[in-house]
Amino acid sequence: MTCPACERNNPADARFCIYCSAQLTAPETVVQDVPTPAVGATTRLPEASVPAYTMPAPAPMPAPAVPHTAGHIRHFPHLNQASGAFFLIGLGVLFLTNSFWPGILVLIGVTAFLSEAGKGRANNALMPLVFFIGLAFLFGTGMIWPGILILLGIMALLGSKRGSCS
Ligand SMILES: [Zn+2]
Repeated sequence: MTCPACERNNPADARFCIYCSAQLTAPETVVQDVPTPAVGATTRLPEASVPAYTMPAPAPMPAPAVPHTAGHIRHFPHLNQASGAFFLIGLGVLFLTNSFWPGILVLIGVTAFLSEAGKGRANNALMPLVFFIGLAFLFGTGMIWPGILILLGIMALLGSKRGSCS
């Protein structure tokens, strides 16, 4: 490369003249560098925008699931709150009717069911509901034994059914 100032030969990759320190390649590289990234950028931009455009496409997929569960939750909070009130009212009724035992078992089961259903897990709540009502029935009728075996069998059936569902 010939120096424009002193017109002596310099290495091809030299940026400054090794003899007079005049700038050799800087004006050339500036002219070359500016359009090269600019072209690269403009050609890459549509490529980058294509995946960027397809990326939002999967995003709407979880989006409908959020209103779906939100709809479930929106329905039930008052039910969850009601379970606490239901328990107190039920407790009072049981005392009044002198059927505290085994009525308390039914009350616990129903309250647990309402509470779980309030969280949108009615399936989970079904087992304690059946268990406590069944237990109350067994205590009330004096068939604890062997009725408890039948009850536990029903619970196992419900549990396996629930497992297959989820
Ligand atoms: Zn020079």
